[in-house]
Amino acid sequence: MTKKKILIILLLVLIVAIIVIGFIFSKDKDYENVEQEESVTEQNDSEKNIQESKDEVEEPEEEQEQREEQLEEQESENVVEEDNGYIVGQELPSEPTIINGVLIANKKYPLPKDFAPGESVEARAAFELMAQDAKKQGFELVAFSTYRSYEYQQSLYNRYVEQDGKDNADRYSARPGYSEHQTGLAFDIGEKGQEHLWLTEEFGESEAGKWLMENAHNYGFILRYPKGKEHITGYMYESWHYRYLGVELATKVKESGLTLEEYLGID
Ligand SMILES: [Zn+2]
Repeated sequence: MTKKKILIILLLVLIVAIIVIGFIFSKDKDYENVEQEESVTEQNDSEKNIQESKDEVEEPEEEQEQREEQLEEQESENVVEEDNGYIVGQELPSEPTIINGVLIANKKYPLPKDFAPGESVEARAAFELMAQDAKKQGFELVAFSTYRSYEYQQSLYNRYVEQDGKDNADRYSARPGYSEHQTGLAFDIGEKGQEHLWLTEEFGESEAGKWLMENAHNYGFILRYPKGKEHITGYMYESWHYRYLGVELATKVKESGLTLEEYLGID
């Protein structure tokens, strides 16, 4: 009985083996047919075709594995995917970010859409004091852009994107929710009568621009986007954009020679 059983099992194995071999053989035949067809249509490239068709048949699994590995690597390496300094997929928060008592707004720390404090009264008073002293030096300072609402920033940014394209616009204009102007503490400053220098690097070379750079901290302002710090602040050098921090902190930041991000340790 057991011998008979073994014989039956062997027979079954044999049948299965024959089916499998037959199957493989017929596959190879199909394969050869494909190759033959190809070599008929493109005789000159027949060798290449064989190589290619073999690649197609033999490699998908390997390729798939490789692709999966690559995807896994990307996921683990770029946990935070960035787009011109912004975090892809980031949503605006419900509360503003305050670090060491400093309200922060940059490309990584946006503001709530409904955050609308208006122009800071304290910053305005500090600016007026600074302007008075600047006048004694012979130039009249103007804060030509201070508080900007989310909605206003949205229309401004969209206009710049239309004019210059998104990548360029992202270097000098914030996306809505990300502008420091929405804090009410950012003042774009220029000189009256020198409007052609407003929003230009050259303003920083003018007497008024240089005076500001040297003295603004005494009134509580810092030059927010200095030269050569684009990779940290996310913005090109803006000789006109000042941020109010109060005299004590502005002086500390100015003396440190650091950007606000570096000073707060969030660069
Ligand atoms: Zn500005």
